[in-house]
Amino acid sequence: MIITNAKLYGKKGLWNLSLREGKIFSITPSQPLSNQVNAAILDIHGKLILPPFVEPHIHLDYVLTAGTPRWNQSGTLFEGIQCWSERKVSVKETKADIKNRALQALKMQMKHGVQHVRTHVDITDPSFLGLEAMLEIKEEIRPWMDVQIVAFPQEGIYAYPKGDELLEESLNMGADVVGAIPHYEFTREDGVLSVKKALELAYKYGKMVDIHCDEIDDEQSRFLEVVAAESYKLGMGEHVTASHTTAMGSYNNAYAYKLFKLLKQANIHFVSLPKANLHLQGRFDTFPKRRGITRVKELLDADINVCFGLDSIMDPWYPLGDGNLQRVVEVGLHACHMTGYEDITSAYDLITINGAKTLNLQQYEIKEGNKANFIVLDTDNEYDAVRCQPSVLYSVREGKIMVETKPAETQMHASIFSKQFSEN
Ligand SMILES: [Zn+2]
Repeated sequence: MIITNAKLYGKKGLWNLSLREGKIFSITPSQPLSNQVNAAILDIHGKLILPPFVEPHIHLDYVLTAGTPRWNQSGTLFEGIQCWSERKVSVKETKADIKNRALQALKMQMKHGVQHVRTHVDITDPSFLGLEAMLEIKEEIRPWMDVQIVAFPQEGIYAYPKGDELLEESLNMGADVVGAIPHYEFTREDGVLSVKKALELAYKYGKMVDIHCDEIDDEQSRFLEVVAAESYKLGMGEHVTASHTTAMGSYNNAYAYKLFKLLKQANIHFVSLPKANLHLQGRFDTFPKRRGITRVKELLDADINVCFGLDSIMDPWYPLGDGNLQRVVEVGLHACHMTGYEDITSAYDLITINGAKTLNLQQYEIKEGNKANFIVLDTDNEYDAVRCQPSVLYSVREGKIMVETKPAETQMHASIFSKQFSEN
């Protein structure tokens, strides 16, 4: 297949992409094709092509469970954990039920141009039902999506009975990434130990690490420095991610200044979840009310990798969501004061290449020789993509069109407007 008249993300001009055997064979400046071309041609008329969106942080075992057995009334992270804990006891789901919910969510994300997903799975459950469900889905969905699984000890490595053993067992079962939740452990000391345990297991099994880190408005929650320092000492930074880090939004500037030097040295990745954390954080504030978001702009300015994710689709922690990362970008730019021109035109880095770096993806970018995986948005420039969140016209995977969307069409019936309005 040959894609003609493509506007490549971050690049000027129009381009033709020729695809062969699932790979990008050539990328050349757009020019009329000779009649002899012996391949299917898809003229996209200047529309914007990007590598597929990357969802770096979602909880597929939780999706579509909001309201069962009850709604999270306070909107806090801690009531969310309580609701989930009660659900584990009161709602008995089969593996097929869990897979069914997860697949619905993956289809929503697929429709919105996502082809790479990192999901956390609660392993503080001795039945491992959620983990087994995700391991099966990962294999079944591989032709359409790449899924990474984080063994996530939702109720703590030490706060939950034998959490450390369950975590190690999950890695033996096939989880790709080691998780932790230090701010939920009983004490600061247990939190530090949990970070060290996660890194030790990752080192032992050759896995990546993704820690729910300081997801709280407590300015004293400082596990990020432990994650960064320990990763640095082990030389593991590029395989380590700190998710949420919302307490950083409350740190004093003197401490943050000192911390940033370590973060840069450690070379770890950050995942910010703007919609979920705008919802969850600030719940103990009256006024002024904090935004509860990590320092996205400042991290990026310091050349530290940050990406955006969704976290939830209708679960005890967040009642809304439809899998659309473009909406996360729009909300995140507002929440992080990132509305300068360059912030806007490069914003989709946050859901493409920055996410790919976090997940350590190979052959990700649109480049000759790489897999022919990309999406086409219904716009001709980066600025309007952020402004209008256009439909994903095509999602192409290894050279095959996997998703195709016909954009909605609106008709203005001129007869009901004044003459002057109709003429403009
Ligand atoms: Zn999460």
